[in-house]
Amino acid sequence: MMDDLIPDVNRDLMLDANAVGGMLYDIFGVEMTASPTECAHCGNEAELATLLAFTQAPGIVLRCSACEQVVLRIVQTTDSILLDARGAVCLRISKPKLLPKEIPLENDSLGG
Ligand SMILES: [Zn+2]
Repeated sequence: MMDDLIPDVNRDLMLDANAVGGMLYDIFGVEMTASPTECAHCGNEAELATLLAFTQAPGIVLRCSACEQVVLRIVQTTDSILLDARGAVCLRISKPKLLPKEIPLENDSLGG
């Protein structure tokens, strides 16, 4: 049988983009859903939120919406995050936006 050329994708396990966005935010600390990625398999360029996302405990698998190959795998352990990005030509992660004026609290302003 040559069926293994067809990706084994179980769409029942698919997450919606909002659920994925929340998890990615937890992991990276920045909004990731609009981050551009490029599929290493077919060259499809897409925002992260448009990838097909699946939970395969203990991680998340993001597949290309065009060719359904795996683009990213993210696994969280108790003390680390494993990111397998071999299916992505590139992945842009925005730096967290700093507050424009972060004023350090000064103890002496409390009076006393
Ligand atoms: Zn692709």
